[in-house]
Amino acid sequence: MTEPGPLRCATHPDVETNLRCGKCGKLICPRCLVQTPVGARCRDCAKIKRLPTYRLSSAYYLRATGAALGAAAVIGVGWGLITGLFSFIYLNLILAAGVGYAIAEITGLAVNRKRGLPLAIIGSAGVFFCYLVNIFTFGRIPGLGLGLLLDIIAVAVAVSTAVSRLR
Ligand SMILES: [Zn+2]
Ligand SMILES: [Zn+2]
Repeated sequence: MTEPGPLRCATHPDVETNLRCGKCGKLICPRCLVQTPVGARCRDCAKIKRLPTYRLSSAYYLRATGAALGAAAVIGVGWGLITGLFSFIYLNLILAAGVGYAIAEITGLAVNRKRGLPLAIIGSAGVFFCYLVNIFTFGRIPGLGLGLLLDIIAVAVAVSTAVSRLR
């Protein structure tokens, strides 16, 4: 460069720009910049990393799913047994929170305490499965009405407990 002219994109020399990659300083233009949570990056730098905790391999998800469903089956039977012994509304809600907590713990342990939205979804699926085991093992399928409403509330409590620990 012999004369000071307008700056040009390193990838697209026909495009004038004064944007630079926030990491390597390369000149970039609106055509090649990649917007990341930490600012504009060139394509190379944007490719390099995501937050590692949130990127799990499919093996991890399989393990998490197996742990969630396995725990759900066992806990679901326990849940049904305890509900059969005592049926107070409040106890059922505390139980539901405990169920969500336990499934989240076991799911989290299976993946070395990683977190993320997919794990929260797996945990929630585990909670639903657990509820199904609970009602079908003892033939306690709620009819339309108060019983169903209470069960929906209990499942919502269990799901939100599990999600808060896995997301
Ligand atoms: Zn860069
Ligand atoms: Zn460009």
